[in-house]
Amino acid sequence: MPLFRRSKPAPVVDTSAEDRAAELAARQGTLPCSESGCGATTGIACDYVDRRDRACRTAWCPAHRMVVDERIFCRRHAGVVSSLPADAAQSIPLPDLENRAPSLVGWVARQIDADVWRLMLRELDAATGGQLIADPVALVFIGVERHRAWERAWKLVTHAGEKHRVSILVTESRDAEVEVKVGSNVLDRVVPPWIQHRRDGESVSAEQDVEERKLFNHRLLEAIQRGLTREREIADTMSRAAGTPVLRVAEETDPGR
Ligand SMILES: [Zn+2]
Ligand SMILES: [Zn+2]
Repeated sequence: MPLFRRSKPAPVVDTSAEDRAAELAARQGTLPCSESGCGATTGIACDYVDRRDRACRTAWCPAHRMVVDERIFCRRHAGVVSSLPADAAQSIPLPDLENRAPSLVGWVARQIDADVWRLMLRELDAATGGQLIADPVALVFIGVERHRAWERAWKLVTHAGEKHRVSILVTESRDAEVEVKVGSNVLDRVVPPWIQHRRDGESVSAEQDVEERKLFNHRLLEAIQRGLTREREIADTMSRAAGTPVLRVAEETDPGR
């Protein structure tokens, strides 16, 4: 039996997944397409069902649908589902139909990912190695009220045991606001400019949009840098303090010892 398994070439599995996705992308449905101006009646319903068991009420023809993990979605919900780890869509109660928290956090994290790693690597001494760990977008619960939020984190663990954890987070109750954290400190909360414009009913030129997105990313990275610097300063102060005679005495007379 093991022989059969081994002789089965692995790529076959991927190809058939691709085939199934291609079949779904082209499959003919019977519903009118929800895309404005599209007259097709070959639509299939978006497969998204939120945590309150409400289904997305849109349907999409082959030209306007998205296929993620062998399921058909509208563009918005394809964004939500593809931000989450592959098995999450099955195991976590998904955000409300109109909630953008996980897709916003996933999108922003992708934009700043390389720069966050660069900032964290700077915290490493030349002589010490470390481990970089990326946590995918995940559901977390905030505060005593246990508000649902979606978080993406970057972690650095050095051989000396030092740890840094940077994360960005969007709560479902305020799904237009990106929160920047280093450790447990919140360093900034920002509404992305493109969301602010949409709220205000404004439209901006393509150049202005590019420029604003750049500034937005820059602001997040600056907040992260501030947080990392503060952590380093606290660590330095503590290691200096640990070397002073006064503290040594205090340690020696600690009744807990
Ligand atoms: Zn269509
Ligand atoms: Zn949908």
